[in-house]
Amino acid sequence: DTIGANLDRTAARVGDHEALVECATGRRWTYPQLVADVDAFALGLHALGIEKGERVGIWAPNCAEWVFVQYGTAKLGVVLVNINPAYRTHELSYVLQQAGISVLVAAPEFKTSDYRAMVAEVRGECPALREVLFLGDPEWQQLMDTGRAADRGFLAERETELSADDPINIQYTSGTTGFPKGATLTHHNLLNNGFFVGEGCGYTEADRVCIPVPYYHCFGMGMGNIGATSHGSTMVIPAPGFDPALTLRAVQDEKCTSLYGVPTMFIAELALPDFASYDLSSLRTGIMAGSPCPVEVMKRVVDEMGMAEVTIAYGMTETSPVSTQTGADDDLDRRTSTVGRTHPHLESKVVDPETGLTVPRGTAGELCTRGYSVMLGYWDAPDKTAEVLDAARWMHTGDLAVMDAEGYLNIVGRIKDMVIRGGENVYPREIEEFLYSHPDIADVQVIGVPDAKYGEELMAWVQLRAGAPELTADTLREFCTGKLAHYKVPRYVKLVDGFPMTVTGKVRKVEMRQVSTEELG
Ligand code: ATP
Ligand code: MG
Repeated sequence: DTIGANLDRTAARVGDHEALVECATGRRWTYPQLVADVDAFALGLHALGIEKGERVGIWAPNCAEWVFVQYGTAKLGVVLVNINPAYRTHELSYVLQQAGISVLVAAPEFKTSDYRAMVAEVRGECPALREVLFLGDPEWQQLMDTGRAADRGFLAERETELSADDPINIQYTSGTTGFPKGATLTHHNLLNNGFFVGEGCGYTEADRVCIPVPYYHCFGMGMGNIGATSHGSTMVIPAPGFDPALTLRAVQDEKCTSLYGVPTMFIAELALPDFASYDLSSLRTGIMAGSPCPVEVMKRVVDEMGMAEVTIAYGMTETSPVSTQTGADDDLDRRTSTVGRTHPHLESKVVDPETGLTVPRGTAGELCTRGYSVMLGYWDAPDKTAEVLDAARWMHTGDLAVMDAEGYLNIVGRIKDMVIRGGENVYPREIEEFLYSHPDIADVQVIGVPDAKYGEELMAWVQLRAGAPELTADTLREFCTGKLAHYKVPRYVKLVDGFPMTVTGKVRKVEMRQVSTEELG
């Protein structure tokens, strides 16, 4: 199936059921209304002379129009390029050129950023860019009006010319470990992955999915939107950007049954001073993914947010994105200590990164994924593709994992984050988990910094709870002594108010390492 055909099928099945709610404006769409706007965008774009396979960029925070553009481009067989709302001129220009974007749909502004001014600044550098449509402008309105007046029969005809294996989306990775790479994904990749994620959460028409995670990333547009539309569920957009209070308000007012987030989002929601005043009783499930979830946070999500069936998912942009997920029936221990088992129709193996040979169960190695969800490759970067996709089409994830006897996987860190201190492999994640049990610590990240004697030394960046007393390296070391092996005890402690983050809510340890390496001189 294609993504467009699947949306039409859902609309035919569920009738006037609610498809989409945009909380910031109170606008609502039933499935047939959504399909009408999706088709209007697709036909309007066609009227601009955009051909199958051309690239259309979207640079906007979460909003209903994002959804029209996502499904409309898929119906036309056009390749949608997700552009990170946090980008500035340098990165914007890079993506516009790298993907050869001919039409850009953009928000006029977001937060304190003037998108109009930035587009004007880079436009001259991007010869392929023919049209820029700012949401809400007369040009946008005109495109939608043209599309509404056009013959919808054209889209049925176009559908017969599409293949599920056509590229329809370029998504840049989060840039956690370096420069973002553009993963090229197909209908088949995204639609099936969204469907199986929805299966993993047990979605039906009765579900209302709260999506505070960015559409720019697979987590929002794939696991969120396609997860919902492939099961006839309702998509709820709490706010354009992430806001913990507006997220909980949306759950309460829209009676959401499912809530998504990376762990830092759940931490922010749980930390709201008026957390207890929200009625979250409609919540049943949700997905926590993107980075390791501290056990303490998971327990609070289940106990205090009432997400009894919350699942943990693991994956990456390159695999559309989910490749493992915990089951709603897995016991809590499994859901806190593992990222679940391999999704249907995918394969996982854990290999020794040096030899490429599969390691025994229980041993750490690089996780590799194979199957329907693996990207075609990085857009226009065959060398980078060859570094991660081997001849047998195994995707080498760069993540270190341990698989147990029953196939449950535990992500122990990224190969790039592993610290080698005096010849001992140290996984920062393990130390972070331990430090979370300290009563004064709200959040903590551990990195390796260069050290003349040991090669690398450990440093903990610590965010203290409000009102907690100062914490020194000595007192923290005392807390660890006798509980952690000596080589895992952080030598340095840095007190911070926050961490450098990607827009997808992940901590950028590369940046932390740079800062600390410079500070240590
Ligand atoms: P880049 O590839 O540009 O450095 P990135 O890898 O963070 O950035 P994404 O594709 O958004 O970009 O994220 C995928 C990565 O997120 C995985 O490779 C893994 O390291 C991490 N991840 C995802 N889900 C989980 C999870 N449940 N537990 C632990 N880590 C996770
Ligand atoms: Mg990555």
